[in-house]
Amino acid sequence: MIVCSTRNGSETATFREAVLRGPAPDGGLYIPAETPDLSDRFAALPPTASFAEVAGKVLEPLLSDEFTPKQIGDIVDRAFPFAPVLRRLDDTITLLELFHGPSAAFKDYGASFLATLMDHYLAQDSRRAIVLTATSGDTGSAVARAFAGASNIDVVVLFPAGRISALQEAQMTTIGGNVTAVEVLGSFDDCQRMVKGAFADEELRGRLPLTSANSINLGRLLPQSIYYVYAAVRAGATQRPSTEGTSPAPIHFCVPSGNFGNLTAGVLAKLWGLPVGRFIAATNRNDVVPEYLREGVYRPRPSVATPANAMDVGDPSNLERLRRLLDDDIDRLRNLVVASAAGDDEIYATMREVYEDHELEICPHTAAGVFVARRLLSRDLPEGASPAVPAGHPVVVAATAHPGKFSEAFHQATGRHPTIPPRLAAMLGAPSHKTTIAAEGASLKRLLMGVSPN
Ligand SMILES: *Cc1c(COP(=O)(O)O)cnc(C)c1O
Repeated sequence: MIVCSTRNGSETATFREAVLRGPAPDGGLYIPAETPDLSDRFAALPPTASFAEVAGKVLEPLLSDEFTPKQIGDIVDRAFPFAPVLRRLDDTITLLELFHGPSAAFKDYGASFLATLMDHYLAQDSRRAIVLTATSGDTGSAVARAFAGASNIDVVVLFPAGRISALQEAQMTTIGGNVTAVEVLGSFDDCQRMVKGAFADEELRGRLPLTSANSINLGRLLPQSIYYVYAAVRAGATQRPSTEGTSPAPIHFCVPSGNFGNLTAGVLAKLWGLPVGRFIAATNRNDVVPEYLREGVYRPRPSVATPANAMDVGDPSNLERLRRLLDDDIDRLRNLVVASAAGDDEIYATMREVYEDHELEICPHTAAGVFVARRLLSRDLPEGASPAVPAGHPVVVAATAHPGKFSEAFHQATGRHPTIPPRLAAMLGAPSHKTTIAAEGASLKRLLMGVSPN
C-alpha cells in the first residue's frame, strides 16, 4: 500500500515507512493513497467468519506489496488473540463490543497491531527501539499492554501521580519486563511536556532509539477498519442480492467519538466498498464536529471535562484525515456522517436506562452512542425532515470500553458498582513496579539513559 500525507498527495511513503514514522514529514497525517474495491472479498466472507479470518481477507490485498498471505496470517494471530462481540440491545440497536482485549477498550486493536508490526520491522532490521509515551490514563494502558513482551522494544510510559484510577495505574505497573511505568509528581500536561522535551533533545535522540506509538499512527488506524467489516459480515449486510434481486439493508454505525480515529477507520472500510448507509458520530459536550457539520465552520477549542472522558477532545486530529478522504467536500461528508452530542445528564440517564431495561452495564462513552443513535432514530422528526437512518434499518453502536473501567461514572448513574472483568481485577492485587520522578525534563533524561537496550 502506498500512502500519502493529508497535506500533499505527492508526499508519499510505503506503509512500513508510515508505521515507523508516525506523522508525515510535512506535519500531515498519512492516509492510503488509493482506494481499492474490496467488495467482492467482503461478499465472499461467510456470516460465520471469525475475526482473524476477516482481518486476513481485508489486510491481504492492502499489504500485499510487503507481506505474503502467510505472514499476514501470523501477524493477525499474534495481534488479535481477542475479538469483538455483537450483542443485541433492542429491535434496532446492536452493540459491537470492542472491549474484550487486554486493556478492555477498543484502542487495544490499534495498539496491538502497531506493536506487532513495529516489532516485526525492527527484527527485520536487527534494530531496537524505546517507545516513549505519556498518558492521562486510558491510552497508556492500552499501549503498555500491547507492547508488553515485544522482543525488540522497551516501553517507558509516564503518568501523573494521583490523577488516574487505581485500575488504570495497575494496568501499567503490573507488567514489568520491558515496560517501565513512571509516576510523575505533576499533571498530565507535565508528562506530555517532558515527553516532548525528550523527543526534542538532540543528545538523547543521538544516544537512544526513541520512538512514539502515537494515536495518529496509520498502523493504529488501519486495523480498526476490520471490525466494521466483521460486524457487517456477521449481520449479513455484505451478501450479494438474492436471485429475486432483493439486497440486504445497508448497515449503519454509531461511533462514540473524540479524536475521530475510530469513525475515520469505518469510513475507510466504506470507501473500500463496505455497504454502510450512514455513520452517526456521537460526541459528548465537546461538540466541535457536530457544530462543523451543522454550520460549515470549524472552531477548535479547549476541551471540557465530561463523564465520557476518553472523548474530551476539543480539536480532533483525525478530522483532517476524514475531510481529505472525502476530497475536502463537506457535502459528501454531510451525506455520509451525521453527528450529534450527548450532555452529561443524558449520558448518565442512558447508562441507568440500559441497566434497568436490559440488565446490561455500559460505559459512559457507549451510553453517548446509544443516546445519540436513539435520538436520530426517533420517529418524532420535524415535518419534512428526512431521517438519518430509515426506519427498520439496523444500527450498530460501537461499545468502546468495558463499564468496569469507569466505575465512578457507573456508580453515579445507577448507584451500583459495575462488574470488573476478572483479568482487570487480577491486576489490582498483582505485584506492581513503578519509578517515581519529579516533573522535570532532567529527571526523565536520567531515567531514560538508564533504560538499557538489552
Ligand atoms: C479513545 C476513546 C474513544 C474515542 O475514540 P476516537 O477514535 O478518539 O474518536 C471513545 N471511547 C473510549 C472508551 C475511548 O477510549
